[in-house]
Amino acid sequence: LGIIVQKYGGSSLADVSRLQKVAERVASARAGDQKIVVVVSAMGDTTDALLKLARTVCGSPKGRELDMLLSAGERISMALLSMALNARDIPAVSFTGSQSGIITDQAHTNARIVEVRPQRVEEELARGRVVIVAGYQGVSREREITTLGRGGSDTTAVALAAALGAEACEIYSDVEGVFTADPRTVPGARPLKEISYDEMQELAEAGARVLNAQAVEFAKERGVVIHARSTHGGSGETVIRGRPEADRVVGVATQAVFHIEAPPEGADGSLPTLLRVLEAHEAPVGHLVSSGPTLVVALPSEGLSDPAGLRRSLARELPGTRVREDLGTLSVVGAGQGARATLARIVAVLAPHIQGVLSAPLRTSVLLDAARLEDAARTVHTALVR
Ligand code: ASP
Ligand code: MG
Repeated sequence: LGIIVQKYGGSSLADVSRLQKVAERVASARAGDQKIVVVVSAMGDTTDALLKLARTVCGSPKGRELDMLLSAGERISMALLSMALNARDIPAVSFTGSQSGIITDQAHTNARIVEVRPQRVEEELARGRVVIVAGYQGVSREREITTLGRGGSDTTAVALAAALGAEACEIYSDVEGVFTADPRTVPGARPLKEISYDEMQELAEAGARVLNAQAVEFAKERGVVIHARSTHGGSGETVIRGRPEADRVVGVATQAVFHIEAPPEGADGSLPTLLRVLEAHEAPVGHLVSSGPTLVVALPSEGLSDPAGLRRSLARELPGTRVREDLGTLSVVGAGQGARATLARIVAVLAPHIQGVLSAPLRTSVLLDAARLEDAARTVHTALVR
């Protein structure tokens, strides 16, 4: 019998009535005689609320303690969903990431999965139980609890699907799959039937919140096909698989950035110091541009667990560094039509506002005032994506 891994996002579990709907969905999937593993996110805005709570007691909480706190969000969901299934006479059991055998590196708040040993999950499936797994978390070889970075439940689902040799990996959220832009802010956005791993990863890294970038990278590496669907039913879905198609723009995404301009320093410049500070803060991957002695780094703000602490370290280690948090990037993702052509078309509609440019094979990004991002996304979507 095939194994299906389903993942439900936070907004699909925001309150008890939604959680009951998810229980119904799981129950009907199981009626098809499938073995079901369900990966859950924390209910609604729980993770944000926990982060805020941490800041009220400590300005710069340690990553280890943050992980102990944040991982609790998903535990609430897993236990409640398991109870909701039991109440329907469906045998179910919940497991934390650690109990599910999700082994990660030691990078607290942004850990990477290095291995999955899903022995207990397999045993429970063999007993006929639905297994509910707390997403977004794992355990390091040093036996510390870790979390996988924002949106990390997707990564849990893909990694488990790969380790279990699942038939399908279904990611359920509030929207019907992946759109050409965020449909909440860009009215013309439309759903994509299919998108390649590489393009999906670029979109996710550029700020599209539908799927976690690391999850997509994992899926590509292990050949897991992802079905992104809506929790509310509907026939629409986006299938993530394969290679990019030439000559198409797949979408537009925006994100706020933490923008650093480091001054020249010493003979070898400020690069070694800057890299050390970023590493110490477990900063997410961003863009680094070096032109002459000045270094410019734009990091996705969302991945930073302690922006205030990073500001302080930069002021201490690299005096004269300028940090701005009022900027963001708008990115156009798609293969084949050439970065120069894409950039020319973006410039044609946004020229006076562009404060920086970055282009990569599948992505062209421009730096803008954060306040302008939503407007710019609508303009660029109309001009470049049909
Ligand atoms: N609850 C975590 C977050 O909000 C993980 C997830 O939703 O996948 O980032
Ligand atoms: Mg969440």
